[in-house]
Amino acid sequence: MDHNYSGILVYLQQAGGGIFSGSMELLAKAIELTQEDPEAEVYAVTAGPLSEEGLAKQLAGYGIRRLFLYSIPADGASLHALSADLVYDAICQCRPAVVLISATIEGRILAPALGIRCGTGVTADCTGLRLEPGQRLIQTRPAFGGNVLADIATEHSRPQIATVRPGIFDPAAPHSGSEAIPYECTRLTAANAAPFALLSHHPRHPGISIESADRIVAIGAGVRSREDIQLFEDFAAQIGAVLACSRKITEKGWLTPDRQIGLSGRSVAPKLLILCGISGSVQFLAGIRRASNIIAINKDPDAPIRAAADLFVEGDVYEFLPALSRLLREE
Ligand SMILES: Cc1cc2nc3c(=O)[nH]c(=O)nc-3n(C[C@H](O)[C@H](O)[C@H](O)COP(=O)(O)OP(=O)(O)OC[C@H]3O[C@@H](n4cnc5c(N)ncnc54)[C@H](O)[C@@H]3O)c2cc1C
Repeated sequence: MDHNYSGILVYLQQAGGGIFSGSMELLAKAIELTQEDPEAEVYAVTAGPLSEEGLAKQLAGYGIRRLFLYSIPADGASLHALSADLVYDAICQCRPAVVLISATIEGRILAPALGIRCGTGVTADCTGLRLEPGQRLIQTRPAFGGNVLADIATEHSRPQIATVRPGIFDPAAPHSGSEAIPYECTRLTAANAAPFALLSHHPRHPGISIESADRIVAIGAGVRSREDIQLFEDFAAQIGAVLACSRKITEKGWLTPDRQIGLSGRSVAPKLLILCGISGSVQFLAGIRRASNIIAINKDPDAPIRAAADLFVEGDVYEFLPALSRLLREE
């Protein structure tokens, strides 16, 4: 194995006129991982319409050593961002020991293509990362249906490529008072443009984002029928919350997959999470690690969710929720 690799390269996905929050989370993690190793630098690579100046505003205080920037017009962003060629270019220039990519649709296409290009391994959907001496990356991810957490190392090749689901780590905060930390910006050329063309873009469920919601009401198999969902929808609206669910609900087709919390759904970080008739399987719990103030309503006093909840209400959700709703209205 060639040991002449050092540092971490983070792929910064552009979205909505800025850097996607999941990429910022990886940037924070990369900076944290390299704290103990003065040899390890943090690099970033991005493709899209954001200008060098625009990016500087967002990235100035983070301690990046070098940014690889591939500028392309807004209407061509997805076309080129899918290209492994461009990230490969950046890898050839900085030779990182680790490459981190957010496990979005774009990231899930990019990572394996990059793995093939580099002749190295990819560990998908990690939920934990740690750096051992020699910049050996221990990549933790659920295995066997989420019942065990496996530690995976890429022993014989470099770089070590990992994708991480958005919402797993906390987003990056700039170092205080370090506005002026300079980084070098290298512009990549269009020589290796992707063989894809974006013809049109149709968001499937515009407007729903449980990942960024501050308040969530989530329903599970304790809900008896599709018609009953209106009760929970109304309660969520009353307290300014978004309605989400466990997989049992999406499996029935009662809510769309973008509302599902958990291992195969979304990771959420609301300030208030009210769980209605959800047992608390390990797969569900994987999606609520960053939530605070968890209230669980369940008629089974032994439901596993009890251990994860800040407040456990033992009772029938069909009785409790209307009563709570009335009380709130009166007040
Ligand atoms: C690879 C894999 C990935 C998975 N990914 C996910 C995922 O992303 N998200 C996910 O949620 N699951 C996922 N699952 C499924 C998971 O294992 C559970 O089956 C699921 O989370 C259970 O959902 P639930 O809690 O709604 O249902 P249940 O486990 O059936 O629990 C229903 C709860 O409702 C309570 N209840 C019933 N009636 C009432 C009432 N009237 N009032 C109050 N409480 C009541 C019951 O006491 C019970 O605790 C995954 C499984 C696998 C194998």
